[in-house]
Amino acid sequence: MSETKMDLIEKERTYLMIKPDGVKRSLAGEVITRIERCGLKIVALKMFWATREQINEHYPKDDGWLKRIGEKTKVNYDRYGLDVKSLGTEDNKEIGLMVRGWLLDYLTSAPMIKMVIEGPHAVDLVRKMAGNTIPAQAEMGTIRGDFSVDSAAFANRDKRAIFNVVHASETPEEARHEIGFWFSPEEIFDFEKTDSTIYKIDRAK
Ligand code: ADP
Ligand code: MG
Repeated sequence: MSETKMDLIEKERTYLMIKPDGVKRSLAGEVITRIERCGLKIVALKMFWATREQINEHYPKDDGWLKRIGEKTKVNYDRYGLDVKSLGTEDNKEIGLMVRGWLLDYLTSAPMIKMVIEGPHAVDLVRKMAGNTIPAQAEMGTIRGDFSVDSAAFANRDKRAIFNVVHASETPEEARHEIGFWFSPEEIFDFEKTDSTIYKIDRAK
C-alpha cells in the first residue's frame, strides 16, 4: 500500500451527528465519552438547529439509496409478520421517499450536535459504535443498542422516522460529502492528542 493511502487511513475522518432524540434525552456527554474513550479524536464540534433544506442536502437522493431504505423496511415488516402494504405502497423507491420526508421532520424537530472525528479507520469504528440502524437489531454495547427502543414498523405506524440517537457516515465518500457540507475547513482543527504516541513501541536497548 502506498504511503499516501496509509496516511489517509491514519487521518481518516468521519461525520457523527447526535440526533434530536439524543440531544433532548441529554445523551450528548455519553456519546462524546464513547468516542473519546475508544481513542478517536474529535476535531470539530457544534450544536445547531438544521433547516429542512440542509437535511435534504445531507441525505443522498439517488434511487439506490431510496430503494435500499425500502428494502430494509420490508425486511423489518416481514420479521414481525406485518404487512408492508399498510404503508400505502410496496414500491421500494416510494417507501424510501416517504422515509426521507419523515427524516426531514425528525431532524429539524430540535437542535442537534455535529462533529468530525479523526483517526485510523474512523468511519468503520464510529459505525460500529453507533450500531445497527434499527435499535431492536443493534447490539448491546453500541449507542443505538444501549439507548434506543424502536423499529421501522413501530415508527412507520406513527408516520415518523426511526429514532436512533445518532447519525454516522457509512463510507469514506459519504463522510467527505457530509464533512464538506456541515463544516468549513477553518472549523476543523489540527492538534496532537497527549496520547498520540500510543502506537510507538519502545524497545529495550
Ligand atoms: P443509518 O442511519 O444507519 O446510516 P440509513 O442511512 O439506512 O441508516 O437511514 C437513515 C435514517 O433513516 C436512519 O438512521 C433512520 O433514522 C431512518 N430510517 C431508515 N429506515 C427507516 C424506516 N424504514 N422507517 C423509518 N425511518 C427509517
Ligand atoms: Mg446512512
